[in-house]
Amino acid sequence: MIISGPSGVGKGTVCRHLMLVRQKLNLSVSTTTRPPRPGEEEGREYNFTSVDRFKEMIGSGDFLEWAVVHGHYYGTLKTTVRNYLSKGEDLILEIDVQGAAQVRKNSPGSALIFLAPPSLEALEARIRGRGTEDDLRIKQRLVAAREEMEAYYLYDYVVVNDQVENAAGLIGAIIDAEKCKVNRGVRPPGWGGVE
Ligand code: 5GP
Repeated sequence: MIISGPSGVGKGTVCRHLMLVRQKLNLSVSTTTRPPRPGEEEGREYNFTSVDRFKEMIGSGDFLEWAVVHGHYYGTLKTTVRNYLSKGEDLILEIDVQGAAQVRKNSPGSALIFLAPPSLEALEARIRGRGTEDDLRIKQRLVAAREEMEAYYLYDYVVVNDQVENAAGLIGAIIDAEKCKVNRGVRPPGWGGVE
């Protein structure tokens, strides 16, 4: 499952809520060259690395997808995805629009969800309220947010984050529905039938 949405829409909060209420659901830890924010821990929010090392990993073909977002590199390792999927567990990738487009192309079995704010004004208030970015970065993120909103049509689903519980409930329902899809190989019990 891919979840994207503009900066500040609350992807992290919604995903954390989902983890609490669902079994066997994991959040992919990405690799980034962005410096850690206060309170962030190596290996928990991200694997933090240098630009040189990140470029080496691109060269070795280590990433399922990668992108430059707000001036920093971010990427999802192929090994992370394989580890969870081989255990039959669900995995959420919280990635930007460029990364989602790559996953769509390379992993046709993925389902893409766009998490949208109730309004752009609500989004700006959230980003300012978070207080982790300086004014220039906030402006960059708002410009990027408008662009990202325009890419919603690349996704399979749009979920509005009006209330965390509502948005998490809808995403849970989407995960359940995806798992019942015939084109994922689901068959009625005892039915060997038509392929
Ligand atoms: P932040 O720096 O606020 O944690 O994340 C900034 C943006 O980078 C968010 O839109 C987030 O979804 C995106 N992002 C985080 N990890 C990845 C990743 O592995 N790949 C891509 N393409 N984007 C990512």
